[in-house]
Amino acid sequence: MTKHIFVTGGVVSSLGKGLNSASIGMLLESRGLKVKLQKFDPYINIDPGTMSPYEHGEVYVTEDGAETDLDLGHYERFTNAETNRYCNFTTGSIYYSVIMKERKGEYLGKTVQVIPHITNEIIECMQKLDGHDTDVVISEIGGIVGDIENQPFLEAIRQFGQRVGRENVLYIHLTLIPYLSAAEEIKTKPTQHSVGMLRQAGIQPDIIICRTEKHISADVKEKLSLFCNVERNAIIEERDVKPYLYEIPLILIEQGLDKLIIQKLRLKTNGDDISKWLSILEILKNPKQATEIAIVGKYMGHQSAYESIYESLIHGGIGNNARVRVRRIESEDIEKNGAKTHLEGVKGILVPGGFGERGVEGKIEAIRYARENEIPYFGICLGMQCAAIEFARNVCRLKNANSTEFDVNTPHPVVSLLEEQRAVSHKGGTMRLGAQPCILQGGTKAYKTYGQQEISERHRHRYEFNNKYKEKFTADGMIFSGHSPDEQFVEIMELKNHPWFVCVQFHPEFKSKPTRPHPLFKEFIKASLDIC
Ligand code: GLN
Repeated sequence: MTKHIFVTGGVVSSLGKGLNSASIGMLLESRGLKVKLQKFDPYINIDPGTMSPYEHGEVYVTEDGAETDLDLGHYERFTNAETNRYCNFTTGSIYYSVIMKERKGEYLGKTVQVIPHITNEIIECMQKLDGHDTDVVISEIGGIVGDIENQPFLEAIRQFGQRVGRENVLYIHLTLIPYLSAAEEIKTKPTQHSVGMLRQAGIQPDIIICRTEKHISADVKEKLSLFCNVERNAIIEERDVKPYLYEIPLILIEQGLDKLIIQKLRLKTNGDDISKWLSILEILKNPKQATEIAIVGKYMGHQSAYESIYESLIHGGIGNNARVRVRRIESEDIEKNGAKTHLEGVKGILVPGGFGERGVEGKIEAIRYARENEIPYFGICLGMQCAAIEFARNVCRLKNANSTEFDVNTPHPVVSLLEEQRAVSHKGGTMRLGAQPCILQGGTKAYKTYGQQEISERHRHRYEFNNKYKEKFTADGMIFSGHSPDEQFVEIMELKNHPWFVCVQFHPEFKSKPTRPHPLFKEFIKASLDIC
């Protein structure tokens, strides 16, 4: 039988529920258990695909093409569990499904209500990952206890425990223990209140993970244990770990969280191996070399907007035993001050995915700088499309070449809308999404990097390289090194006479892990180290 762990959050948001859920997944996997992870988000949007990166951060794309919360990226990076569309539900998607059922008449004349219909729908979603190949499902409940939007989810996890038996369910509450410098004290009251609210909802947490800046003394743990009605050894201290996120599972293991979960859920384990994880931390802390990469994008003040890109660069560094420093550059600053001012001295330049016209000219300038100065360049999705525009304008001499996303009347639409996209009117969930096969051409950097002919990568875009310009580009020194099997879509292009200039239409950052750096990120970092 599949067991369930529910992770709730208290006091404030942004405590790292996603990272903690992912870390719990990692520590259970290190004991030979098979885990799956999912997240419930309290907002009304069906998925985050239509939200701005300012609002929501990165949209993480799964193999099956779901546009999901970025926490799923943490799940995949920390564990071997693959995520899919059953790993992220929102209030919007739950209601949508219930309303569709109501329209079909599936409720047989009943009044449709939050309890039991919405809560039953949530419980069904929580059981979608159950199966003989899953020992534990970890479900993260977005938002914090006390939020209005959070309530149906709390009610659902309470009922869930009652239905499947309390011994098959574990409630873990992640909370903040603030330090008041004026009083020189850490405070437990907000946590007491938050656990109080959970108990009002009928949920007694089994384990409390305390995020804290300062060490939590035995006395304070005693107090928490007493007031929150949680065993003393189930109060786990989690000090801030920045900058090494991958340290979190080790901190939790150090305090015996793995043993505690195994014992409470009566899980049968098989082995105990964290050696791979330890060697990752060793490289992160004592790398043999270093490099500096510039990312030129639009949301550089928002860590979460390019979360998977930042992490994949770290993985590329791990693969080369190197520290990767990132220079974050707003593309509009390049438009104002020129590329050299911001890019001088970097050993690699990356332009990530994006939407809309703002900042595009700055990205194009950055790419020109990389091409002309032989600095390794890695273009991802929009980063490939901008490279096509740059090459068309400055090498092929196609004046005013552009993508029709930015200029519908361009005389040279080197990037244009996919035929199948022309009729699309709804914005949500309608892009070319998810895993698509790609065939690599022998003798290219792409082929050498992957070491195989057929690959599969995840996509999220509407626009595409315009095949009418292939011949001209090829004659001027561009190599088209990856295509969809029917050759309809260009998936990878690279420059002939350049140390490393590789552009991909897909998103390799969604498939990189610290334990298995994506080959393209690894090679990009290697190329940047070669010019150091
Ligand atoms: N805006 C471009 C498109 O829709 C690129 C998308 C992206 O970078 N993810 O094709």
